[in-house]
Amino acid sequence: MATDPNDSNWRLRAACKGSNGELFYPKSALIKESKEVRQRREELAKRVCLRCEVRLCCLDWAMRNGEVVGVWGGKTERERRAMLKGSKKGVIFQVG
Ligand code: SF4
Repeated sequence: MATDPNDSNWRLRAACKGSNGELFYPKSALIKESKEVRQRREELAKRVCLRCEVRLCCLDWAMRNGEVVGVWGGKTERERRAMLKGSKKGVIFQVG
């Protein structure tokens, strides 16, 4: 698995490359997904992320750049927010 956060070409090896992103983002910012639809979509996205060789680079990029929407590096926006909250409290989080 590639883990170098300085690897700027990580997107080229993304398992989601070429997808339209429908699993990774809500369909619309204007229409709220039901909890069930969101959870199902996120689980399917996470399955893709699990087999992605650049998952750590992706998550690192999202965390550094404050991505607030979507599944990045196998983590949902809520999970990333929790990770940030924990890191501000001095909790060291483990990616995985
Ligand atoms: S970790 Fe997931 S969102 Fe990130 S590049 Fe890989 S498949 Fe795409």
